[in-house]
Amino acid sequence: MTTKLVSCVILDLDGTLLNTDGVVDKVLKIVLSNYGKEWDGREALKIVGKTPFESAADVVQDYGLPCSTTEFISQISPLFYDQWCNIKELPGANRLIKHLKSHDVPMALASNSPRESIEAKLSYHDGWKSSFSVIIGGDEVRTGKPSPEMFLEAARRLNVEPSSCLVIEDSLPGITAGKAAEMEVVVVPSLRKQSHLYSAADMVISSLLDLQLEKWGLPPFEDWVEGTLPLDRWYIGGPIVKGFGRGSKALGIPTANLSPEGYSDLLAEHPAGVYFGWAGLSTRGVFKMVMSIGWNPYFNNKEKTIEPWLLHDFNEDFYGEELRLLIVGYIRPEANFPTLESLIAKIHEDRRVAERALDIPLYSSYKNDSYLRSSHE
Ligand code: ADP
Ligand code: MG
Repeated sequence: MTTKLVSCVILDLDGTLLNTDGVVDKVLKIVLSNYGKEWDGREALKIVGKTPFESAADVVQDYGLPCSTTEFISQISPLFYDQWCNIKELPGANRLIKHLKSHDVPMALASNSPRESIEAKLSYHDGWKSSFSVIIGGDEVRTGKPSPEMFLEAARRLNVEPSSCLVIEDSLPGITAGKAAEMEVVVVPSLRKQSHLYSAADMVISSLLDLQLEKWGLPPFEDWVEGTLPLDRWYIGGPIVKGFGRGSKALGIPTANLSPEGYSDLLAEHPAGVYFGWAGLSTRGVFKMVMSIGWNPYFNNKEKTIEPWLLHDFNEDFYGEELRLLIVGYIRPEANFPTLESLIAKIHEDRRVAERALDIPLYSSYKNDSYLRSSHE
């Protein structure tokens, strides 16, 4: 893959920096139920990246609502405004903004949302607004994405050639707009399993954590430590349940599964990939741990799961015991493998990376976290 050198970055907001999907689901569920309809999320792929008017028109049409698009917008808008404060930053978004800013890389924000809602959303994220030299909303140009207009206008205001800009987007209209503007485009798809749609982009990555800015001649991230990326730590735990019974133990890679109930929201926040940290078993102690989050492309799971492998030889099973996990870092995105052998080899490599990393004080200090040792809530 050849990439061109750039000097500026143009970012999309919803789905790229902010996790807006959950809020969209919530609002549409409420408003559609007023019409006796049930929002089932099937529209998500169709409306992602479109202008607010186009998205609303799609929903009105596909659900056969007895109202005009304008009326529908006037019903959903106040609900959206109440939700802006609940939108979470996507993993790696804050890291990216702070990094580019500290290296004086000019940044623009170009979103199909109206300027006013962009400002409202940004106000909940410290230091974001002032990081952008240029902000352009959908109501400030004649035509939104997929028209290149707002990206070209962003380049003009940044005072650079379009070809000097890297666009970071999550959706098809955004990619189309970026390529029509003759910019470099990297896509971080907000909806999974649609990668075939994104072939026009110059690069597809699975989350902002995987962005390699040096590929475009931009200053590289310097926070990777021995093949690992330190994360804000997070916790998850519960009794160990039976997993998929695929005999991972027979492969020498047993994974102690947690019940999928109750933690799907938490897992939805984290990109599919390989992570590591510490695992506490109520009666046995604290152990190093490497785990995957995802759908296991090799096995093509339906549900997003977490598969923690405790890096210790136990001579028995411990189903039903309370498992407490503290996740401290990231290793790599989820990937598909041509053979089971190559998958197993990669898992062993992940194990070595995690084992080494967990000896570094940056990560080893978390071994003493009280969460890992307390056996009950
Ligand atoms: P399942 O599909 O039920 O998860 P696995 O083959 O993945 O079956 O085996 C996982 C089980 O093996 C765990 O639930 C636990 O009881 C046991 N086990 C033994 N050693 C380990 C280990 N090092 N890491 C995780 N689980 C282990
Ligand atoms: Mg398992």
